[in-house]
Amino acid sequence: MTSELNAHGSGPRPRPVIDLHAHSNVSDGTQSPTGLVTSAAAAGIDVLGITDHDTVGGWEEAATAARRTGVTLVPGIEVSCAVDGVSIHLLGYLTDPDDEALMGELARARESRDTRLERMVVRMAADGIPLTYEQVLAQVAPGATAGRPHIADALIANGTIGHRDEAFDEWLAEDSPYYVAHHAPHPVRAVELVRAAGGVPVIAHPFTRTRSRSADEALIEQMYAVGLAGIEAHHRDHGPEQVERAEAIAERLGLLVTGSSDYHGQGKHNQLGENTTAPSALDAIEHASSGVTTIVRP
Ligand code: AMP
Ligand code: ZN
Ligand code: FE
Ligand code: FE
Repeated sequence: MTSELNAHGSGPRPRPVIDLHAHSNVSDGTQSPTGLVTSAAAAGIDVLGITDHDTVGGWEEAATAARRTGVTLVPGIEVSCAVDGVSIHLLGYLTDPDDEALMGELARARESRDTRLERMVVRMAADGIPLTYEQVLAQVAPGATAGRPHIADALIANGTIGHRDEAFDEWLAEDSPYYVAHHAPHPVRAVELVRAAGGVPVIAHPFTRTRSRSADEALIEQMYAVGLAGIEAHHRDHGPEQVERAEAIAERLGLLVTGSSDYHGQGKHNQLGENTTAPSALDAIEHASSGVTTIVRP
């Protein structure tokens, strides 16, 4: 907890540190769900959102670790969406893990991610990059959502590079000749699916500077029309200009504002708690959910 006054008892209640977007090795983070929650506890995070790409597979293990370590856990997902070839990420908090429509869509995405990764590896290997699909599969935890970072991990393991960044700079970006897209829902459809599953949809890092193309306001308004609840304004990929733009849209549409680390363990430089969410926004998320999936409190 952090507090503006000293801790001698008479100041305001300490403000919890809330980080609502982090990945485990159930997708492309480098730590198990237990490792992730343990690191969050050590980093002084009071409330952690586990939001693996296109899967709820880490929720149970993370909940067990959260109860043991005293971390409050917000179960979530990060849905990979696409519109006209532009990749958009949608966070979905407290969705029903038994909702057939949403879970079916996520299963289709995971399946197509496997074939897509193999096609990327074939293209890269044909061009002389030392890599096999078996080496990539060896980097994906059993049942995990496979992604481009696992190609990077295979290249680290076989000594070609030292960090995931190098692989993204050289070979893995969306405008690279080796890039292959995977099945991904339209972001408007994804908002509908998350809402129908009782969850709370928040668009992730919409104005990411490192990508050539990102979301625009018209798209966010279309998502808002079907139930978008919030916007992740405070994120490493946003500079002051992007934060301001996100906050202005939130203000205009009445969306809640979140902030997060988007922590990936050793896979990215992002550190737990580097951006955080206000307690009032977390309350709004909890109240907007159907209550089928609940926040795990120690
Ligand atoms: P994919 O889901 O296969 O399209 O891969 C996208 C993932 O790659 C995202 O979750 C990003 O966090 C990760 N990523 C993108 N750029 C980088 C980078 N430069 N270093 C490490 N990870 C990255
Ligand atoms: Zn990721
Ligand atoms: Fe993302
Ligand atoms: Fe993420």
